[in-house]
Amino acid sequence: METCARPTTWGVAPSHLSVSLEAIQSNTALMLGMCRTPVMAVVKAGGFGMGAVRAARAALAGGASELGVATCSEAIELRRAGITAPILAWVLHEDAPIAEALSCGIRLAPSSPAQVRHIAAVAAQQQVIAELELEVETGMHRSGCPQTHWQELFRAAADADSVQVLGLWTHLAGTISEHFDEPLECLAEAAALAERSGLRPRLHAAASVAATVDPRTRLDLVRLGASLFGIEPVRDRPLGLNAVARWETRVSQVRDVAVGEVVGYDRVVLDHPSRLALLPVGYADGILVAQRWPMAAG
Ligand SMILES: *Cc1c(COP(=O)(O)O)cnc(C)c1O
Repeated sequence: METCARPTTWGVAPSHLSVSLEAIQSNTALMLGMCRTPVMAVVKAGGFGMGAVRAARAALAGGASELGVATCSEAIELRRAGITAPILAWVLHEDAPIAEALSCGIRLAPSSPAQVRHIAAVAAQQQVIAELELEVETGMHRSGCPQTHWQELFRAAADADSVQVLGLWTHLAGTISEHFDEPLECLAEAAALAERSGLRPRLHAAASVAATVDPRTRLDLVRLGASLFGIEPVRDRPLGLNAVARWETRVSQVRDVAVGEVVGYDRVVLDHPSRLALLPVGYADGILVAQRWPMAAG
C-alpha cells in the first residue's frame, strides 16, 4: 500500500486515501491473462484519480505494453516522468500541444483529415515522423472520423511523408456481444479501405467491458482503464479484480441525542434515541456535506 496524504489546506484532517499499486499491477496481469491480447493501460484523468504516473508504472509492471491518455498534456506528463513505453493521446483539441507531443515521441490519434494534415505539417517542420493511430466512428457518435470522410482520412495519411500509420481504431458502446456486431463490421470495412490506400494498421476497439464480454472485440490490442482500477466490467459476474482505492477517516466525536431532536442540515427528526458519530469530512474530501446519508437504526 502506498499512502498519499489527502491534499488539504488545514493539515489536520485525519482522512486519507490509500492507493494500492499492487492491485493495479495484479488487475493488469489478470486482464492480460484473460484477454491474451496486448494491453494498453488507459491512465487518463490522473490515472482515474489514483495518480497517472504511478498508476502507469504499476500497469506496465503488471504486463501492459503501452499507455493511453486523453490529452497531449497528460501524455507529456508521463514522458517527463521518465516513462518510455509507447503513449497514445486521442483528444486533439484545437490548441493541443502537438509540437511538444511529437518531440516527446507521443503517438497521436487524429479523427479527421484536417487533423492528419496539421500533424503531418508540424512533424515535417520538426523533421520527425509522427506515429498515428486513426480513429474511426462506428456508431457511438462520440469521436472518430465519420464514414463519409474515411477515404479522405486514409489518403491524407498515406500521402504524408512525415507520418506513419500504426493503428486504426474505434470506441465501442454497449455491454453485450450483440452491441458489437455492427461496429466490428464497420471497423473491418474501414480497415479494408485503409489497406486500399496502402496502409497496414493494427486494429483495436475494446475497452474493459467489451474485452470482458466478447473475445471478438479484442483484436490486436485492448485499451483497458476501469478494470485496471478495480472496477468490475460486469457487476454481477465479477472477475475478482482487486480494490485499488481505500478511503479512511476517524470518528472525531460521538454523542447521544434524544428522540425528537433535529439533526444536521437536512433537519432529520430522530424517531428514536440515537448515538451519532461525527466524521470530519466535507468538501475538501470531495463529499457534498449537504448530501443526505442513510442513518443506521439503533
Ligand atoms: C476511457 C477509454 C478507454 C478505457 O475504457 P474503460 O471502460 O475505462 O476500460 C479506452 N479507450 C478510450 C478511447 C477511452 O476513452
